[in-house]
Amino acid sequence: MRNYDILIIGGGPSGLSTALHLARDFPHLAPHGASRILILEKERYPRPKLCAGGLVIDAEIILQRLGLDVGEVPHVDADRIHFDFEAKGLNIRVPKRHALRVIRRDEFDNWLAVKTESRGIEIRQGVAVKKIHPLDDCIIVETDQGDFHARVVVGADGSNGVTRRCIFPHAMVNTARVLEVITPEYSVIARERSDRSNLPAHEEIATLPASRVARNDRQRGAYFDFFPVLTNIAGYVWDFPTQVNGEAMRCWGIYDTNILANERRPQLKEPLAKEMARLGFDLNHYEIKGHPIRWFSPQNQMSVPRVLLVGDAAGADPFLGEGISIALGYGALAAHEIGEAFQRNEFSFNGYRRRVIRSALGHALIARWVLAHIVYLLKWKWFQILIWRILKPVVILLAWVFVLNWGKRMSSTLERFSKSPVYSTHVQANR
Ligand SMILES: Cc1cc2nc3c(=O)[nH]c(=O)nc-3n(C[C@H](O)[C@H](O)[C@H](O)COP(=O)(O)OP(=O)(O)OC[C@H]3O[C@@H](n4cnc5c(N)ncnc54)[C@H](O)[C@@H]3O)c2cc1C
Repeated sequence: MRNYDILIIGGGPSGLSTALHLARDFPHLAPHGASRILILEKERYPRPKLCAGGLVIDAEIILQRLGLDVGEVPHVDADRIHFDFEAKGLNIRVPKRHALRVIRRDEFDNWLAVKTESRGIEIRQGVAVKKIHPLDDCIIVETDQGDFHARVVVGADGSNGVTRRCIFPHAMVNTARVLEVITPEYSVIARERSDRSNLPAHEEIATLPASRVARNDRQRGAYFDFFPVLTNIAGYVWDFPTQVNGEAMRCWGIYDTNILANERRPQLKEPLAKEMARLGFDLNHYEIKGHPIRWFSPQNQMSVPRVLLVGDAAGADPFLGEGISIALGYGALAAHEIGEAFQRNEFSFNGYRRRVIRSALGHALIARWVLAHIVYLLKWKWFQILIWRILKPVVILLAWVFVLNWGKRMSSTLERFSKSPVYSTHVQANR
């Protein structure tokens, strides 16, 4: 039997962020060389993780607060994000920086795991948790390599995680269905087509309709198109620039929150195939992969005594299925919840959900939950045209204030808390 103060189940962004925030903000709980915190990860890094890898500004802000520069990870920067309805809509640029940084998750998670270990946190790879048993004074964590005991467990094991299923076996779960496809970049496809037609690439492009010529310019953009909403798919089709082993590629996918699951819907891959065909790609030539995303609703339960959920286990963004920055944000909040619990020697975690909801991250999640219900339930064509094409400045302003930029607000709240006399006295006393 192995005993730990804090056992984190899952070494994705939410679990690693929880550990990194504990090490940064509560160093007495994570002393170098003394194993009080352990992360259990069932895979071995660098492990595959189905994800488009789009990092919004908030992810970078949280990583910066941890002293980490995500620029060290291989990436592609999109200089603008388009939110379209039937190929026309609004275009978001961020002054003097990229609008979206795109990483591959095997590389990003591996990098984050190395950084976590370098700060003295132990990660055991290749250990799968089977069950957890919360008791009054500890938690027993059953794995394929024996049992562990912990005073606190963090469920960071993703959308299908065992932690949530053990503590809330009967709770309602909202999950989105998501498909993803990786293809060569537009320019490569244009080149291949011109090889086949014996035309130089620029002439091949010149023979294409205007929408296809535009795709070379598209290369630097990340696109979201909400046209599937008309067919009861409560979501969008995306395409981002990315790279795989240094080679420029395109990541495509379709997201459906499932809010309209009771209505008649086409097969999920149909709108994706349609969008890819519009840009000269044949979906049948590529491998399609799928994975669910568990999304946030204000009703989601997030803790029981001695156990907290973070990341997808607690609930990702319902509107776009964006979850990396959200997972990093949950990690910061959970670390503070745990730090205070050890300070008080009281582990009920009664107020965790309330504090998540009242945080800047929680406000953004609620805004996205409301948006998902407005944009996907009011699925009339005129309404989609109104929001994506006509009300552009209003939508951009609302997105900037309510949906994005929570990372900065949350970081300053955490900073103020870290500097508060009660906190500093306690940390100093425990160093
Ligand atoms: C197709 C697709 C595209 C996406 N695109 C984006 C995007 O562009 N941008 C974005 O921000 N978000 C995106 N997301 C969402 C994002 O991937 C998730 O929100 C994010 O990975 C959540 O992080 P997490 O740490 O909570 O969970 P995960 O990243 O799922 O990590 C969970 C970890 O727990 C481990 N684990 C699971 N079970 C056990 C067990 N029993 N024992 C031990 N370890 C276990 C897993 O191996 C994994 O390492 C996408 C998701 C999908 C499916």
